[in-house]
Amino acid sequence: MLEYSIDIPPIFTASVFVHPNAGLLLQDYSERSRILTGIALPSYLEKLAKKYPPVITSHQVELLSGFLESHHQSAVINILEKYEVLWEDLIKGVRCPSCNQYAMKRNRMRWECPHVEHVVKKHIYAHYMN
Ligand SMILES: [Zn+2]
Repeated sequence: MLEYSIDIPPIFTASVFVHPNAGLLLQDYSERSRILTGIALPSYLEKLAKKYPPVITSHQVELLSGFLESHHQSAVINILEKYEVLWEDLIKGVRCPSCNQYAMKRNRMRWECPHVEHVVKKHIYAHYMN
């Protein structure tokens, strides 16, 4: 931020699932602490604020915000090439919590499995397994 003479504060990244009925089932995922529900976000931010007190003024925050907005560029990367993953190696679909097949279909605001009469009306879980 030489243009504004601002020292760049520490940057943290997290994924937040904000749907009130979102459930996260993560097993042995090393970055689990950076994947949050909307309910957990305030305490996550409070912990960061305690550990890292503000180092820039509100005016500098406005400058940074304007700078980021005016310099934004969408990332153009082929994520499969970047991580050397083949399309065929991906497990595609949404897993049925009843029969464990990746066959759930979205139908009128709910998820249904064609193999069993299992319907998930309120929420679907995000899964990650090593
Ligand atoms: Zn099923």
